[in-house]
Amino acid sequence: MVKFKLGDNMDKVMEIAKRRGFLWPSFEIYEGLSGFYDYGPLGVLLKRKIIEKWREYYTIKEGFYEVETPNVMPKEVLKASGHVDHFNDPMTKCKDCSEIYRADHLIKDETGEDVEGLSNEKLTEIISKKKIRCPKCGGHLSHVWSYNLMFQTLIGPTGKKVGYLRPETAQGIFVLFKRLMRFYRNKLPFGVVQIGKSFRNEISPRQGVIRLREFTQAEAEIFVEPDNKTHPKFHKVADEKLKLFSAEKQLNGEKPEKISLKEAVDENIISSELLAYHLYLTKEFLTDLGIPEEMIRFRQHLPSEMAHYAADCWDAEVYMGEFGWIEVVGIADRTNYDLKSHMESSGEDLRIFVEYEKPKLVKKVEIHPRMDKIGPRFKEKAKKILKKLKNMEPEKIKKELSKNEGKIKIKIDNEEFEIYEDEIEIKEKRKYIKGKKVLPHVIEPSFGIDRIFYATMIHNFVEDDERTYFDFPTDIAPIPVAVFPLLNKKELINLAIKIKKDLQKEGLIVNYDESGTIGRRYARADEIGIPFAITVDHQSIEDGTVTIRNRSDKKQVRIAINKIPDTIKKLIKGDIKFHELFYHEELLVRD
Ligand code: AMP
Repeated sequence: MVKFKLGDNMDKVMEIAKRRGFLWPSFEIYEGLSGFYDYGPLGVLLKRKIIEKWREYYTIKEGFYEVETPNVMPKEVLKASGHVDHFNDPMTKCKDCSEIYRADHLIKDETGEDVEGLSNEKLTEIISKKKIRCPKCGGHLSHVWSYNLMFQTLIGPTGKKVGYLRPETAQGIFVLFKRLMRFYRNKLPFGVVQIGKSFRNEISPRQGVIRLREFTQAEAEIFVEPDNKTHPKFHKVADEKLKLFSAEKQLNGEKPEKISLKEAVDENIISSELLAYHLYLTKEFLTDLGIPEEMIRFRQHLPSEMAHYAADCWDAEVYMGEFGWIEVVGIADRTNYDLKSHMESSGEDLRIFVEYEKPKLVKKVEIHPRMDKIGPRFKEKAKKILKKLKNMEPEKIKKELSKNEGKIKIKIDNEEFEIYEDEIEIKEKRKYIKGKKVLPHVIEPSFGIDRIFYATMIHNFVEDDERTYFDFPTDIAPIPVAVFPLLNKKELINLAIKIKKDLQKEGLIVNYDESGTIGRRYARADEIGIPFAITVDHQSIEDGTVTIRNRSDKKQVRIAINKIPDTIKKLIKGDIKFHELFYHEELLVRD
């Protein structure tokens, strides 16, 4: 059996994907629109299976609950998260034909150099030094400027409330943090996931579903104590090896290396156990989809490409033939950046109380803003001022008052206010404290479902001398089972329909097909990766047995009709393997 040969068959996979209803370019009858793809009937089923597998990992095994927040977000949220000011890509334009390019990608295409994360000035310099011209018409390119990737919209009828389509699902979780903290009864660590659409107005998306303007993300935000980035199950995976391409190896021009997670953490290649554990989980998930382990590597972000908030970041990359190594998952230590920004902007306290092992005796400064003075002086702003003061560190307020001649300055909605010493009462006490408030750090695995979908298609594609088919794992295949009456005869058809209905009652989607030769029906089922095909023949009428055919090796076995639903379910889940059926004679017998 020859599995997909890298680079050879991408076109063939896309041809089948389109012909059999997995993927279609959107808005085709209006000439299409790049960056948008429709999932056809089989595509939706496959995508749903991938998402269900993801939930099995994160919601069921890791125990992270799922939320669903709006796709449209008000500007305040994305201003606080840094997206309004920093979620930019570098852009350049042909001065002759006006074609627009993403500058770093163009440089990479033309020179092979990876320049992601370099400043606009530097990119402009490279374009000019390397004499890079417009690939379409050979014209001169403009200087490089920043282009914000978010889709802007206006919320409501006034036309004044600016909003954006979310560029990642994560922000919805951060904004909900206060509620979630209570849901989890104020105890760290806890994880929350969200699966949904994200929107990025990519500059020139060309690589099919790899770069879309609307795509599906599955993200987990794992909130932890800042100085405890361990994982209770790390010891179970510590000796497992992953192919790591550290920043150091990239900078030294070396190759990725397979090393154990323990070694990677001990030598500080991966910054924490928790991050390392999630790299491992990602690898497990991807291989469960049938993507071979040798096609997966983890690449650390270089200092130049690391987001300003991240302490460490790794991309899970899958080799995709002509496209090279493509990021499918980003796994980042986002520190407390997001919660800190939202706490500062909203004025809400997003810290969480963490108990010490033993109470500690400490000198404690308490501040009590005096509403009787702040109220009359600041009127309608007084409430916000009070909230801000309460959320500030008392020690910091005390220090600042003594440094600045009894005054402190605070900023609310971009306006500065001065508060005087006599408006704040300061008390110092010695007391035992049970713990402290901390702003949690966040570890985030962020999965791009569309890219994973594509990787699942190409790495399960098999072409041999007689057939082409998707060798999807049995629990991932979009349609798990087919039922065929061997001949177009009433009694065979009736029995086949009954078997189909029994399988449907078990919640399975069944492909029922009675047209054409049986060979053609098998071929059609194989092509879309149906793992098991049940055929009803004359013997079925006589002795109540049917054949089950296994897609991957075309072997067939007979089993009793009343054992079908249970056996098929076990086969799909992997509780029993197809070749084992040959040794289970009881399955041949009707009870
Ligand atoms: P990021 O937030 O950029 O780290 O993205 C997280 C994941 O979302 C990536 O690993 C990709 O799999 C996916 N992703 C990001 N941008 C796109 C896009 N334009 N089209 C499809 N998937 C994307």
